[in-house]
Amino acid sequence: MSPPTLRFGLAANRLHHESYGAALFKWLEQSAAGIRELGVELYTVGRTYDAIERSGLLRGHPGLVRYPYGREGGLMKLVARVTEGRDGAAPFDGAIYLIDPVDPSSIFPEALALKRQCITHGRPFVSTLMGAIEWVEVERVCAGLAPDPALSPIFDFSRQTLAMIAHDALKDQMVQFADAHFDLLTRFANRVGTGTTSGRLNELAWSRGWPRDKPWVQAYLSGPLGGDAQIAELVLEQRCQRVIFFEDPHVARQHEADIQLLERAVRVVTDKACCVASPAVAHKWATAMAGLAAA
Ligand code: PGA
Repeated sequence: MSPPTLRFGLAANRLHHESYGAALFKWLEQSAAGIRELGVELYTVGRTYDAIERSGLLRGHPGLVRYPYGREGGLMKLVARVTEGRDGAAPFDGAIYLIDPVDPSSIFPEALALKRQCITHGRPFVSTLMGAIEWVEVERVCAGLAPDPALSPIFDFSRQTLAMIAHDALKDQMVQFADAHFDLLTRFANRVGTGTTSGRLNELAWSRGWPRDKPWVQAYLSGPLGGDAQIAELVLEQRCQRVIFFEDPHVARQHEADIQLLERAVRVVTDKACCVASPAVAHKWATAMAGLAAA
């Protein structure tokens, strides 16, 4: 039996599709072959669709489907399809939204809702170029295809720093995630985290025999006291390439601005960083990475 068709919502802010060499085209140069190989359906809002058509990078791919322009509600329709399928089709498997953090439309309610509903339903919300390239490879590896050797620099964790952050309701799940994928996460050159999350993760590492005299995760301030902002600066300075942030979408957060700041920092360095925002997506990512290592 063939696997179910993968369906992703797709949008890119103007910066990322308006000129030659923009992130949307860099993504397709890397990932179009994988998209075709997997038969991914891309439900693409108007101007992003038009830009892909003009580029010719997905010429003849039957899975490129046009959604309305943003102004006509294209992004709002993507939100609806992430939450629920329609006409017998399953919901989208996630959304790829290449965000320019200084584009006002990137913080319109539909943009925020798209992320929030992806998190709520455990589906990837991919907002950077590096994340988009990586996610196609994650899907390829999960489908049993051989890893693309051209992408090995993205997966050279020995040269990367990983940030781990979890809101209170998700801290147990972060510890479980780290326990299940401890060897993979230990391959990173460094791990950093917000204060309380780091404390929990270091307890886990020590209980697993990590040397008592050194932390497994370098602790920054607690999130509400500025830890997210400290880690945002590391990302901006390209000293942290990956953020695994288990966000709680169901509570009001007094430091919402700091959380947004960190996500926006990741998007500023779009080709150098990526962020995973829910336990389900993190587990899928880590499982694919274990497959890559074994290949
Ligand atoms: P904490 O911070 O790990 O210090 O709880 C996480 C956050 O709320 O951002």
